[in-house]
Amino acid sequence: MRFTAFALDRASQALRRGPSISKLVVLFAVSSGGLVAYADSRLDNGVEVSQGPPKKKVVVLGTGWAGTSFLKNLDTSLYDVQVVSPRNYFAFTPLLPSVTCGTVEARSIVEPIRNIVKKKNGQVKFWEAECFKIDPTKKKVFCRSNIGTNLDGNGEFDVDYDYLVVALGAKANTFNTPGVEENCHFLKEIEDAQKIRRSVMDCFERACLPNLSDEEREKNLHFVVVGGGPTGVEFAAELHDYVSEDLAKLYPTVKDLVKISVIEAGEHILTMFDKRITKFAEEKFQRDGIDVKTNFKVVKVSNKAITMTNPSTGEISVPYGMAVWSTGIGTRPVMLDLMKEVGQASRRVLATDEWLRVLGSNDVYALGDCATISQRKVMEDISEIFKVADKDNSGTLTVKEIKEVLDDICIRYPQVELYLKTMQMKDFSYLLKDSSGNGNKDSIELNIEEFKKALANVDSQVKNLPATAQVAAQQGQYLAQCFNKMKQCEENPEGPRRIREPGRHRFRPFRYRHLGQFAPLGGEQTAAQLPGDWISIGHSSQWLWYSVYASKQVSWRTRMLVVSDWTRRFIFGRDSSCI
Ligand code: FAD
Ligand code: MG
Repeated sequence: MRFTAFALDRASQALRRGPSISKLVVLFAVSSGGLVAYADSRLDNGVEVSQGPPKKKVVVLGTGWAGTSFLKNLDTSLYDVQVVSPRNYFAFTPLLPSVTCGTVEARSIVEPIRNIVKKKNGQVKFWEAECFKIDPTKKKVFCRSNIGTNLDGNGEFDVDYDYLVVALGAKANTFNTPGVEENCHFLKEIEDAQKIRRSVMDCFERACLPNLSDEEREKNLHFVVVGGGPTGVEFAAELHDYVSEDLAKLYPTVKDLVKISVIEAGEHILTMFDKRITKFAEEKFQRDGIDVKTNFKVVKVSNKAITMTNPSTGEISVPYGMAVWSTGIGTRPVMLDLMKEVGQASRRVLATDEWLRVLGSNDVYALGDCATISQRKVMEDISEIFKVADKDNSGTLTVKEIKEVLDDICIRYPQVELYLKTMQMKDFSYLLKDSSGNGNKDSIELNIEEFKKALANVDSQVKNLPATAQVAAQQGQYLAQCFNKMKQCEENPEGPRRIREPGRHRFRPFRYRHLGQFAPLGGEQTAAQLPGDWISIGHSSQWLWYSVYASKQVSWRTRMLVVSDWTRRFIFGRDSSCI
């Protein structure tokens, strides 16, 4: 009803304006309940006529965790939104390892972006294309569709923006190891998982051919995973389950020749997890016959063998049938280019401030795996913090003075609170007590040197956020909420007080809430590390894993598909067709 009334109002305005627009708008208002008539500008004899103040243009690059979360949470009626991504779907990456062995089908974990867009107010335009250049000075992004449809036939076009949200993710990192690109699989995209699935089956079929020696069969059935992080470990566990639960029955003649190796350059696998989980995983893999080679660094991959070095064995080469490279992430070329444009050429990853704004550029935001937050250090601002807090300009700070600015300091510099927590200090005055040497905390008064001493170690708590879906999704949600209240916050800023300038920040800085992480280890056993260092390993956490991953699906459709895939697998096993 509201839309119809609004549309009719627009229509009557248009009638007053001129014949050619009026026909258009009335037609829309009558034919579709007015929904379509909601637009800020339309063409009149090819000239764009604006109605009301034009909306700011927001361009989103990427439809992964960060981009999709931003889009889902953005009030799209406030902006003119355009989304650019070379894939027209969102992929639920935590289930990619399950796709490699057919535990879950590829289509069950993707949601078309147009399904998401359909549910939004206002208009969201989606362009299936890759952005190859960002020009922050002209506020333009240059894109290329892989279907060369424009007049030049090169598929290139550019898009202007007022605000740019960069959520391009990262690429697999090969550390320039020779032969990796040509001979190894990566596990980052849906297509990668599908290729791996086919390749596993090819290896089995090849190993069964009649004209092969045992040595050749063994080579074909040697599956190597390079990288002992969560992705590599989960893939190795999935593959082991696939082989032992399904393929062993289908390929009885070669089943004993199968070998799975995990090669890790560090001392242990899963080092980002608690030590108890690492130990459990290593022991479980040993029981399962998965060969974990730690302290081995891969230096070369040819189409026949993987060459690696170890301080005690020196260089060795092992023949393999299929290799999956999963050693971490690197920066995409388009991002390296942007980093040069904004004066960050010397960095490895694009840096943003705590509000996710790219350092050195206005109106460009970056989130997810393609960027990292550069947390401002307390010691960089210590003199200014002192000045702001010392309200009476006495040259010293009393506890009362500090308390007045403490909330703002803790919001602006979250490391302060983290430090107090780590040092098990109940409140800030415990920090001050030590440096002043004064036992009575109410009468503490600090000069600048004592204040510096008190806070000297808090910056040790500054840590980079991990490159995970959890971080990316929370950042997308946070940034959308900021965009939704941009106008209100310009008038009534809700952020902490500025330290180097007067006034307050518009928004509170981004804060990550860690909800825990899982490491599926195969055999219906999962390790879970939840906040507060709560550890659970075994079958019960596998059920927790099933329920969390089912609930985290982006739509009811994919939730149904994923759950039915799991059920199918329980009843019929995984499908081994090589398609
Ligand atoms: P992505 O999700 O990678 O999205 C990037 C988007 O940008 C894509 O849509 C891509 O098509 C698009 N794009 C790329 N280049 C261009 C271009 N030039 N122009 C326009 N668009 C472009 N995290 C967890 O928290 N838990 C897990 O269990 C977990 N498991 C994982 C398992 C696997 C196998 C993998 C690979 C990752 C896993 N992760 C997990 C990490 C998680 O997937 C990433 O941290 C997350 O995807 C980062 O989100 P993003 O939006 O930054 O990037
Ligand atoms: Mg004072």
